[in-house]
Amino acid sequence: MEAGGRFSKGAMVYEGKAKRLYQVEGRSDLIWQEFKDSLTAFNAQKKGNFANKGALNREISSLLFQELEKNGVHTHRVADISATEEVTKKLEMVKLELVVRNVLAGSTAKKFGIEEGTPLERPLVEFYYKDDALADPFVSDDQAIMIKAAKSLAELDELKVFALKVNATLLPVMRSAGLQLVDFKIEAGRDTTGVLHLADEISPDCCRLWDLKTGEKMDKDRFRRDLGGVEEAYREVCERLKKALLK
Ligand code: ADP
Ligand code: UDP
Repeated sequence: MEAGGRFSKGAMVYEGKAKRLYQVEGRSDLIWQEFKDSLTAFNAQKKGNFANKGALNREISSLLFQELEKNGVHTHRVADISATEEVTKKLEMVKLELVVRNVLAGSTAKKFGIEEGTPLERPLVEFYYKDDALADPFVSDDQAIMIKAAKSLAELDELKVFALKVNATLLPVMRSAGLQLVDFKIEAGRDTTGVLHLADEISPDCCRLWDLKTGEKMDKDRFRRDLGGVEEAYREVCERLKKALLK
């Protein structure tokens, strides 16, 4: 881990729904990532924001990525820079979103007519094609290869094993913070030597987290479903993870 002061921010190269990406002066292998306060859902058809959302997500993500690194998962993390900024490795991104489910919820519960909250006997890994214009469609293994988002079934197996390792590491971490990890989405990419790394972020934006005791939703579903208390839920997740991990 290098000190944040060693890097200087270059030109902006990309603005997404939740982050702005910048070059790092003199380092083509790194990216400067700035977390925004904006919140979107349903492929950006619903938009919102709250103060400190970017800072909370960056802090939560940084804590979880450090824990994952300790457990042998390669991540893109290089340095925390400020409340809302970090420097990461620049990766060749896999064009698939990896979703892991421990409990059925949301549109998938609806799709199969199964009650939201039904636990799965074993975790389920699903692939979605990362393409906003197509609204990130679900893809089967063969479809992922057909669209060249993956080279082979062996690569898809590597991605599944990777996603399950992240899940197995996060489950006890979340439990120790009094949270049930219902499901989550991660992104992955490869460094110049081809090694798979966890990229992007892990935050209440891309996880479903339910309070272990009360079942209360503590994630972006509060925003999606207009439940109120979005900021309070993100703040509570951050505080609980700090208490659980920074002993
Ligand atoms: P989106 O692009 O879906 O609106 P964001 O606003 O979070 O999402 O933008 C972050 C972008 O940076 C995403 O496209 C993500 O795939 C990409 N990204 C995240 N981490 C890395 C990384 N380490 N290397 C290259 N690209 C990354
Ligand atoms: N997810 C995400 N980005 C996406 C799609 C899903 O972060 O583009 C997350 C979502 O927050 C949830 C998990 O992935 O934690 C599974 O989402 P699901 O497919 O159930 O989404 P739904 O269709 O119910 O909104």
